[in-house]
Amino acid sequence: MHFVDEAVIYVKAGDGGNGCVAFRREKFVPRGGPAGGDGGRGGHVILMADPSVKTLVDLHLQRTYKAPNGQHGQGSNKNGANGEDLIIRVPPGTVVYDHETGELLADLVKPGQRVIVARGGRGGRGNAHFATPTRQTPVFAELGEPGEERILRLELKLLADVGIIGYPNVGKSTLISRISAARPKIADYPFTTLVPNLGTVRVDNFSFVVADLPGLIEGAHKGVGLGHQFLRHAERTSLLVHMVDIAAVEGRDPIRDFEVINEELRLYSPELAEKPQIVVANKIDLPTAHENLKRCLPYWQKLGYEVYPISALTGEGLQPLVYRMAELVKKFQPQQVTEWVDEEIVAPPVPKPPLTIEQLDEETWLVQGGDVEQLTRLINANHPQALAEIKERLIRHGIWKALRKAGAKTGDRIIVGSVELMMD
Ligand code: GDP
Ligand code: MG
Repeated sequence: MHFVDEAVIYVKAGDGGNGCVAFRREKFVPRGGPAGGDGGRGGHVILMADPSVKTLVDLHLQRTYKAPNGQHGQGSNKNGANGEDLIIRVPPGTVVYDHETGELLADLVKPGQRVIVARGGRGGRGNAHFATPTRQTPVFAELGEPGEERILRLELKLLADVGIIGYPNVGKSTLISRISAARPKIADYPFTTLVPNLGTVRVDNFSFVVADLPGLIEGAHKGVGLGHQFLRHAERTSLLVHMVDIAAVEGRDPIRDFEVINEELRLYSPELAEKPQIVVANKIDLPTAHENLKRCLPYWQKLGYEVYPISALTGEGLQPLVYRMAELVKKFQPQQVTEWVDEEIVAPPVPKPPLTIEQLDEETWLVQGGDVEQLTRLINANHPQALAEIKERLIRHGIWKALRKAGAKTGDRIIVGSVELMMD
């Protein structure tokens, strides 16, 4: 049985800053040596496991994450600053997939573990890098490399922080749907007749998981083996919300209901029965509720329970209840025994389209994919100096040879990136 909180988000790393074309200013020299600085690297997008985050609900609310670009290089050999990395905090136990390829990128288990999911683009080199004995005043520089982008699918197996217990029809499902910011997907559930109820609740910047536990207890009576899995699911539960129908719609006494459920819980899981409990008296919108509440309140108070009269239907009393739930979850949550680690998981890079050489007509060839876009991304790319540089790069990367092998003849036009070259 998996309760899965799932989120699909788009991440885009920062682009690299552009290199700069600049020259030293010297008296009486119109153009001094090249002095264009390099662009800074774009910010990475990083996911990091942080145990203070319990759900992926924040990622349901914000779905686009962009890290800032690197700054452009400047004159006087001033390099641009790197873009700041963008860190997205996720609960330990989050599994990260590339949504398009389905490839597993990382399984973030330990607090502090992180993974770069989109690499910032490298900064372009300034013209100072391209001076040679025969090219003393280079008029081109590199543009920054675009930051990686990809769509991620994140999956988290959820553990309940708050268990709601109570008789059938007291209003547990209604409450969960009223207070939930997201309704996680339930996968692989073996009992189709018994769909457990689960929600992620968000209070200010804190979110936690609420689950309807008795539904599962009922299932445990029917099914084999569910008990263990259920307990595993409830192992993080730090608070029980015990709900009664204070209007006694079905004619039962709320105090008797309360005692029966607690007795069942003690038999089923003494460990759970020890958890702190608060009482929620539901259906106070109904006329019969008030007299019952007056009668029952002293009983719970004498036993030391906090009592929250609410109507899950109208919403009355929900806000103080939800705030108190958040407070108690923080107070009673299991202590983190796991140490923080300083560990980076290396994810497979965003796949680049493969290099292709295509003949467009008798004398025109199109080269795409691989590294070619980046090899040709120059400022003043159409200047003869830059074209010569690009041609050199294509030769170095074996692309010129590949063109010849594909049948390109002297004088043919080669379209590559934003430029056009001539086959020699
Ligand atoms: P569960 O079995 O505990 O999950 O109970 P449900 O949430 O399914 O609710 C059972 C019935 O009680 C439904 O018909 C709900 O509409 C109704 N109900 C739930 N909360 C309230 C409430 O605050 N006031 C009233 N009048 N009816 C409610
Ligand atoms: Mg229900």
